[in-house]
Amino acid sequence: MVTTSRPVWENHSPAHICPFDQACSYLEWAAKELKLDSGLLEILSHPRKVVTVSIPVKMDSGEIRVLAGHRVQHSDILGPYKGGIRYHPAVTLREVSALAMLMTWKCALLGIPYGGAKGGIPIDPKKYSAGELERISRRYISELIKDIGPSVDIPAPDMGTSAREMAWMMDTYSVNVGHAVPGVVTGKPISVGGSLGREMATGRGVMIIVREALADQGKSLADVKIAIQGFGNVGGAAAELLHKEGAKIIAVSTGAGGIFSATGLDIPALKVYAAENRRSVVGFPQGTAISNADLLTLPCDVLIPAALENQITEENVNQIQAHFVAEAANGPVTLEANRVLEARGVTVLPDILANAGGVVVSYLEWVQGLSYLFWDEERVNREMENLMVNAYRQVMQQAQNRKVNLRLAAYTLGVGRVAQALTDRGLYP
Ligand code: GLU
Repeated sequence: MVTTSRPVWENHSPAHICPFDQACSYLEWAAKELKLDSGLLEILSHPRKVVTVSIPVKMDSGEIRVLAGHRVQHSDILGPYKGGIRYHPAVTLREVSALAMLMTWKCALLGIPYGGAKGGIPIDPKKYSAGELERISRRYISELIKDIGPSVDIPAPDMGTSAREMAWMMDTYSVNVGHAVPGVVTGKPISVGGSLGREMATGRGVMIIVREALADQGKSLADVKIAIQGFGNVGGAAAELLHKEGAKIIAVSTGAGGIFSATGLDIPALKVYAAENRRSVVGFPQGTAISNADLLTLPCDVLIPAALENQITEENVNQIQAHFVAEAANGPVTLEANRVLEARGVTVLPDILANAGGVVVSYLEWVQGLSYLFWDEERVNREMENLMVNAYRQVMQQAQNRKVNLRLAAYTLGVGRVAQALTDRGLYP
């Protein structure tokens, strides 16, 4: 396999799996399949811009802390940089860089005119008050003011952030430039130019891709048992929509632990329970407790890791019993684990396809805002479904044509489109 040099800040990989190395391995795998020119591969292996800012914040106690805020802009070959901002204690520059690269391939695969970026602040948002989070969000975005903009780089929510943070960021940007700029972020509240359907979009996209993959094998959602790791914006919405379509959701979890019921969980009741219990599902009366690790190895038809990366690795891959793994999270299956699953005939629906619903509706939000014309939810969902199903079919076709698995099919499509545009644009100077 061709290997590429790493950016200078990537010289000290930790002993555990480095997410950026992992992302580069996927890229190198696709490049080999595409017989990509080594110079092109070298360019695509490096983010175009890496920014880390200091965020001094006055805590409610009066104490001053200084946090780090990252924004990595991987590629803007196909359009403005696009990608979420993550607030999570495990955020590192390596992780943000890996996720920025995934956004580039994801947008290219879905055929939406964006590049890829990602931002992150290593904090546990649950440990900060709303006021502290507002000051952090505003200072972070004001430090990045010259690097973002509706035709430059458009942030969105990711793990630990939501419409609330996007409103603060949109306001901070707008106040600084002197006029309202709704197009600078997506995933905003409806009141400031958000799109109907955005909140459930990633989960809806997961449901659509799982439904299509099952249909290709002559099954329907009503026939299957599903386990979902994560019950937040992505896992929770996917659980709700899959349950509505008749699937049996036999287990879900959050960071605090999970809940299992062989006959299927009452997802609407579980949502109410989680809302009343600081978003935890632990202690839900209609089921038994299960750990996050045990959830992954349950006998089920579809496993949906919808939390963090590197959940299915060489260590636990042989215990995975699902026939389909839908990557609702970014990078939850390692390259080696993917190979093992594939050899066993397990269908892995890759992240850049399975979780693309969020950025697709971000795109629809941006388009609505730029055209000053807002659609009803039915239209948003329909347009999103078209883009998702279309991308799914292209991935299936590519897999057939090249006789490769779905991840390599998705990657060769995404990487191939960016490489083509890079070749056509040429290298400056
Ligand atoms: N954070 C989401 C993702 O990883 C959405 C990004 C966006 O809407 O720009 O795809």
